[in-house]
Amino acid sequence: MTAEWMPEVGADYDHDLELEADAVVIGTGAGGAVLASELAEGGRSVIMLEKGGYNTRKDFNQQEKDMFPLLFEEGGGRTTKDGGMVILHGKTVGGSTTVNWAICFDPPGRVLDEWADKHGVEQIRLADLRPSLDKVRFVLNVQKMLPDEVTRNGQLLLDGAAKLGLHGDRFEHNRTQCIRSGFCILGCAYDRKQTMLVTYVPRALKFGAKLYPNAEVEGFERDGDRITAVTGTLTNPKTGKQHKFRAKAKLFSVSGGAISTPQLLRKNNLGGDRVGQNLTLHPTTAAVGIFDDPVRAFDGIHFGSYVSDLEPEGIIIESVFAYPGLLGSALFRWGDAAMTQMERYDHMAAAIVLLHDDGRGTVGVDGYGLPVIDYWVSAADQAKFKKGLAMLARIYFAAGAREVSIPHATGLTLHSPDDVFKIDALAIEPNRMAVFSAHQMGTAAMGKDPAASVTDSWGRVHAWRNLFVCDGSLFPTSIGVNPQLTIAALADRTARHVLANQGRYFA
Ligand SMILES: Cc1cc2nc3c(=O)[nH]c(=O)nc-3n(C[C@H](O)[C@H](O)[C@H](O)COP(=O)(O)OP(=O)(O)OC[C@H]3O[C@@H](n4cnc5c(N)ncnc54)[C@H](O)[C@@H]3O)c2cc1C
Ligand code: SF4
Repeated sequence: MTAEWMPEVGADYDHDLELEADAVVIGTGAGGAVLASELAEGGRSVIMLEKGGYNTRKDFNQQEKDMFPLLFEEGGGRTTKDGGMVILHGKTVGGSTTVNWAICFDPPGRVLDEWADKHGVEQIRLADLRPSLDKVRFVLNVQKMLPDEVTRNGQLLLDGAAKLGLHGDRFEHNRTQCIRSGFCILGCAYDRKQTMLVTYVPRALKFGAKLYPNAEVEGFERDGDRITAVTGTLTNPKTGKQHKFRAKAKLFSVSGGAISTPQLLRKNNLGGDRVGQNLTLHPTTAAVGIFDDPVRAFDGIHFGSYVSDLEPEGIIIESVFAYPGLLGSALFRWGDAAMTQMERYDHMAAAIVLLHDDGRGTVGVDGYGLPVIDYWVSAADQAKFKKGLAMLARIYFAAGAREVSIPHATGLTLHSPDDVFKIDALAIEPNRMAVFSAHQMGTAAMGKDPAASVTDSWGRVHAWRNLFVCDGSLFPTSIGVNPQLTIAALADRTARHVLANQGRYFA
């Protein structure tokens, strides 16, 4: 580890920087970190530019009030333009993986087949992706959760599902020797969550890549059909003083995530009209079961199990818990009702209903260059929400819940399975139902037809010889399961393609 990449360098930014490498990777999340590491391992000089800070276990103090502003874009308060949906994504070295829940799924084969058959993406079927999936699973230490890592919250979901003859299972995850503190989305203070921050970013550095945190890319210099340099602003995290940087390279990857990538491309008129279209978000809502005995769902890993019976229809139910701030704000109760609800915090079990969305939204930019996210849950997806919530409510009652709360402005509370039909009458409208997204996808999608996609099958932006996208933006459709492994595997696949064609990309 050289001083050049250490965070102290970021803290010492005291003059403008001129940088140069074979490849510049913008963003260090699930896509960017893997691409940077693989290119570096392949012998290429690589610069990683990350607008978030180099925050590590020393900084992760397990306090919601400190960690959301430090680690999340807009302090965790980003929403769609009508405020109807909260959009969570990370802004820190490691990107959203630093703040994620560590759930791992391989991509469903039938979704990849759709990418091949309907969108013309080459070599994308599950068998094609398997070598890349195997590599990232190995580096990220993916394994099935142990039975005793599943808290009572997760077990109640499994028990209720079993009583109804449904299929539940423990998650696979990328934790190792987890001490079960439950603070994963505030950053793992024990380095047990195998995020990009502790896996691929250090690997990239080991192979000689350089990391510049607090470095936000804003502009692109070009010559014909090639990008020649990116420019932007460095912020000294200690003093707040700012300087400029310019980074020259032969190959560039925008890996800012599916909100920031289209923001950056659109601001710079790169990639054409399709940039920012086709936004999918895996819209997610939740239900809370109240049990007579304490559940103490906060005590241990917050995610444990899932129910997959509706997965072929695009609905997955995942046991989840949240800290009081996040959970309290999601419950859609105010005043005395909110107090009464939160007094039962230790008797609550919670799970989310996550959708493989058919609906689409857009990411545009406003006059200040900031992203404008336009999305609401489509009619077809609203019907999926109702079906998933009804199944979840029945599962909780089968597991012994006294009541089930739905996070809706009507304050809907169900007291028995006979009440479940009431879910059907809910108006699923912006700001009347708690809906959020932790998975952003699709805004610079791969495809064969340049009129219907932003990049080719390998992530290269059509019409640009050396500009790639490498993050969740590439998905032609949403994937229907938690996406980090798919994004990381796509990045590994892009790196393999680039390294196999070095004459073309690095000449
Ligand atoms: C709270 C939460 C929980 C989640 N849980 C799970 C889970 O359990 N399992 C799962 O599979 N997925 C989960 N996810 C989703 C998963 O982490 C993301 O889908 C994945 O990390 C996205 O990868 P990415 O490369 O597209 O972008 P990111 O990982 O978000 O990385 C993008 C990076 O680019 C940086 N950047 C953006 N613009 C610029 C710029 N102009 N200049 C420099 N840097 C820039 C950003 O700061 C960020 O660090 C979760 C996400 C969140 C937010
Ligand atoms: S539960 Fe495990 S992975 Fe999560 S923060 Fe605690 S030690 Fe880290």
